[in-house]
Amino acid sequence: MPLNIRHPQENTVTTFQLKLTASLLTTLALGACGGGGGNINPAVNVGPPLVVYANGVSSFDSLALAAAFAHLPIEALNGAEKDSLIFMREEEKLAYDVCAQLDILWGANNKVFENIANSEATHAEAVRQLLLRYGVGDTAATWTTGLFQNTVLHGLYTQFAANGAKSVIDALKVSAEIEEIDIFAIKEALLGIDNQDIVMVYQNLLKGSRNHLRLFVNNLLLQGVTFVPQHMDAVDYAAIISTPIER
Ligand code: ZN
Ligand code: ZN
Repeated sequence: MPLNIRHPQENTVTTFQLKLTASLLTTLALGACGGGGGNINPAVNVGPPLVVYANGVSSFDSLALAAAFAHLPIEALNGAEKDSLIFMREEEKLAYDVCAQLDILWGANNKVFENIANSEATHAEAVRQLLLRYGVGDTAATWTTGLFQNTVLHGLYTQFAANGAKSVIDALKVSAEIEEIDIFAIKEALLGIDNQDIVMVYQNLLKGSRNHLRLFVNNLLLQGVTFVPQHMDAVDYAAIISTPIER
């Protein structure tokens, strides 16, 4: 079944949000003047933007990401790129919100939800940094759990939170499904994107999602459950699952 989760018309940014973002930018700028860090020296040798742990959890390192941005130009933003940034910010928020909710329910049984929630927070933050770079309003600026401007993502949150509450196995299945959607959405978005900084972040998000998918599928296998992909092509899915964690 084709997955249609991109509804650009739902991504209209309200004047209120633009004002909110403008005030946020001012606050951040004032904070930077106060000498509270933020001085990124590109000459300092830092590691790659995405840190991959042995278990597959893949998180952005904020300093390394800032250093990578410092080497890349801010190019003209086309409509597809702008829509995609707004969507991906909420898509990564969806991954965080669901995993954080599942951690409340199942955290005593399995630490994977907490680990991935923490990681997804860095993914959402990486996209927020791109929104800031391009002066695009952040629909998740107020970050209310389970609330999304994009109605499709909002519906998915409600569905995933309900399904994931049934059992720890359902929770793992829901989590794997979110990674599938993430991979699907990023690959589609990359077709319309040429700005180097966005491509860099998205390629890392893609790598992180492949690692997270491997992690959830392995967790299910440990429970004797073989995950059946809900959105991905069987060949694409097999190509990921049959290969090791990408470092
Ligand atoms: Zn993610
Ligand atoms: Zn993920």
